[in-house]
Amino acid sequence: MISSKLPDVGTTIFSVMTALANDHKAINLAQGFPDYSPASELLDLVARALYEGHNQYAPMPGLLLLREAISVKYRTLYGLTYDPVSDVTITPGGTAALYSAIATVVRSGDEVLIFEPAYDSYAPAIRANGGVPIPCRLLAPSYRPDWDVVRSLITDRTAMIIVNTPHNPTGTVWPAEDRATLAAVVDGTRIVVLSDEVYDHICFDGLAPSCLAQQEGLRERTFVVTSFGKTFHATGWKIGACVAPSSLMAEFRKVHQFLAFSVHTPTQVALATYMSDPSSYLNVGSFYERKRDLFRSLLQGSSWKIMSCEGSYFQLLGYRDFSDEADTVLAERLTKEIGVASIPLSPFTTDGVGDGVLRFCFAKNDATLEQAALRLRAL
Ligand code: PMP
Ligand code: GLN
Repeated sequence: MISSKLPDVGTTIFSVMTALANDHKAINLAQGFPDYSPASELLDLVARALYEGHNQYAPMPGLLLLREAISVKYRTLYGLTYDPVSDVTITPGGTAALYSAIATVVRSGDEVLIFEPAYDSYAPAIRANGGVPIPCRLLAPSYRPDWDVVRSLITDRTAMIIVNTPHNPTGTVWPAEDRATLAAVVDGTRIVVLSDEVYDHICFDGLAPSCLAQQEGLRERTFVVTSFGKTFHATGWKIGACVAPSSLMAEFRKVHQFLAFSVHTPTQVALATYMSDPSSYLNVGSFYERKRDLFRSLLQGSSWKIMSCEGSYFQLLGYRDFSDEADTVLAERLTKEIGVASIPLSPFTTDGVGDGVLRFCFAKNDATLEQAALRLRAL
């Protein structure tokens, strides 16, 4: 009856692998979500907000108190000034913020450069808005951009570049050098940068959390997306935010107000109070660094190749030493046979070709990681 706008899009690999894990009662290290609860203090704050009557529409751009808390974070942590009134919008999750930013900028025929493997919402969101995703492959093991390739892919139709650091699925964090090169590449163009920073607090080994807009030349053209789901162990709450200079944000809000209008009020009330203590987000990096180290140490000496992991809560493990299967085939087989679910990387690429690694989420209780590692070591 209708002709599909997204004929090549099936069900996201996250749903596929979680369903498979559930069917086979496997340990789910596939879809990225914690198997522990948010802090009880935060849960109490949400419950209190519900009972205190914060149950009607929040303002369209979000509760001012929460926008103020976000503005304070960007100022104190990143030295960036975002006016809570005009430059910050609360969204129903990071995905919706990404979609709104793409819908705000991309017109029919516009090209959007994405680095692959890429989080799987980018390309369909670009296409649904008439744009053309232009993939730029990140190569193992460093997964850093090849800037000559990036330059060769930019045309006068390039409207946007999407950056994701810390990166899902590879766990890389862009060094200052790549940030500076990006600024030089977009200088003098109309290119808008969409910076997906949902893992901004989850970086390791002394790397300080950072924001792409700190790079000189980028702030004025960058939408920054963040998600409370990652930072506060509450992925099911689907609440995030976008920050950008007012001229960009005014256009973003025209889309947001008709996509969502506003976001769950009691959660915003609770997050505003909870975030007023910066330790609520400043300790997240060390919390995950310990889990990363535990998971890696449990796998030392196994047949898996442990790739580097500078940030995010995903660990890549290489399997070429013991298997030449396609990553989708191996991920399915491991779920069924040893009871550990992971995410193959090939669905995050346009050509559907993986590079011999699987992604494992370590946002799990220690006992879950121990159990999973025991099974993975048995291979
Ligand atoms: N971007 C990346 C890179 C992610 O991993 C996620 C996690 N799902 C999102 C965006 C979306 O976040 P949310 O769940 O808040 O929509
Ligand atoms: N961001 C999560 C991941 O990468 C899950 C996202 C989703 O399920 N849509 O695993």
